[in-house]
Order: sequence, then structure tokens, then C-alpha cells
Amino acid sequence: MKKNWKVCLSSVFSIFLVVWITGCTPQSTTSSTTNTSALAADNVHAVVQESPHWSYEGNEGPEHWGELEKNFAACGNGQEQSPVNIEYTRLEASQTQQPIQVHYTNTKVSILNNGHTVQINAASPSNYIVLDGTKFTLKQFHFHHPSEHQIDGKNADMELHFVHQSDNGSTAVLGVLIQNGNENKAFSRIWSKLPTDVSKEAALEEINLAALLPKDLHSIRYSGSLTTPPCTEHVNWIVLEQPIEMSADQISRFATLFPNNHRPVQQLGTRKLTTDHQ
Ligand SMILES: [Zn+2]
Repeated sequence: MKKNWKVCLSSVFSIFLVVWITGCTPQSTTSSTTNTSALAADNVHAVVQESPHWSYEGNEGPEHWGELEKNFAACGNGQEQSPVNIEYTRLEASQTQQPIQVHYTNTKVSILNNGHTVQINAASPSNYIVLDGTKFTLKQFHFHHPSEHQIDGKNADMELHFVHQSDNGSTAVLGVLIQNGNENKAFSRIWSKLPTDVSKEAALEEINLAALLPKDLHSIRYSGSLTTPPCTEHVNWIVLEQPIEMSADQISRFATLFPNNHRPVQQLGTRKLTTDHQ
């Protein structure tokens, strides 16, 4: 009899635990794993986000983000917002802009579905890029379907964003367009563990981050913003000119989870799009 009570009590506790975990909103799923220095980078896709909710359609969709909360105002009235349409006729060759230096290596990562995208967090600060002499450390990367940036008015099938932060808190996002093509085996490990529901961080085996990039690292740069609330500006955007490929099957597996998680393009205004191609 005593044993039964113990079983019963532990069952009740288990049920409570399940309800408590699954009842958590996407916003709280990783709050226990963040620290202050990671906050700005995490906010790129609002892993740690207070209410209200936002989404990619309806009353909480991109055209309403600026009204949802005071600190989302830049989403509605910002002047240097992202993404943008990259028109090749507007590209300006920079005499001083060097191709970015990417120092990515084999890295332990964790994966989560934060309700807005699938995000992979780098477990160590060993991956970084150098942009005009400043080092930006990789915090996380994630995916959009379809792409957020356009090239001459056209979206790519998907877009990959590597989010970096410098020691002084500046953000740099490296964007890589993904086109339908051959299967991309560099993503096999991640794709085999895509979390179908909003999830807590789960450890993934070590992956080779350098293999996720195209060979050619020539890029287009401009000054923009986070593409999700709070749409904070002064983000250094680097969009690689060469896309990578994924198979139709790989793309559709992501699209099943996120049929649409892209923000429409924003006005470029007087901003410059520079390229390191001479
Ligand atoms: Zn993004």
C-alpha cells in the first residue's frame, strides 16, 4: 500500500512537471541558460522575450510589430530596418572593404525550436569573424523560410543567419542565402534533430561550422536592424554573394515546421549597399 502511494505521488508529480514544462511559453524556454552578455544576441530572435507575443501573420504579424509594445517601436518607425532588397545596380564597390575573415571550427552546439525558428547555439566562444578589424564572436545561428533578403526583388528558398557580438556589444549578422539544389550533407546532423515543437535546448554532437558556408566569402554589406522584434538598429549586415544549396527534401522538412518565418523587405532609403568585389 505504501508503495502504491509512492507510485501515485510520483505520477502526480510527473504529470505536474510535464504540464509545467509544456505549459511554458516559447519565450521562457531558454531563460535559465542565458546570461547578460548573450542577451542582445539572443534577442535577435527573441529567445528571451517578454510578452506580448509576435508572429509572422495576422494581428501580431510584421506590419503590427511596432504597435505591440513600446520597445518594438523601431519595427514600425525605424529608418534603417532589415531585411532589404539587394539590387545589384545599387551596389557600390568599396575600395577599402576587405572580404570578411571567418574563423569557424568544429564546435559543440545545442539546438532548440524557440517558436519563431530553429536556433543553434554555439557552446564555446571559439568561432568568430573579423569585420574591418573588429572581432565578432558567434553566438547562434538560425533559419528563415523563405529568405528575408531579396536579390533583385527575388527571395531565395531559405536564409541562414549567423549572429555575432563584439566585446563592446555591437551585433554583426552574416546572412547566407539557401537555394534549392543538391543535398547539403553539412546540415545532416542538424536536420536529423530538427525539433518539431517548441523545445528546450538539447545538446547536439560537434559540428563543423566552416562547412556550412559557401566557398566564396565576397559579401554585400549595409547597416540595418534585427529582423525580429524589437528590430534594434545599428546591426552590421553581411550578406554573402554566393548562396549555398539544400535539397528540396531538406527545404521542405524545415518548411513543414515553419511555412513562413520571414519579415518582408524594408525600405533601403539612402543607405549604401557596398561590396568588396572590385
Ligand atoms: Zn534571422
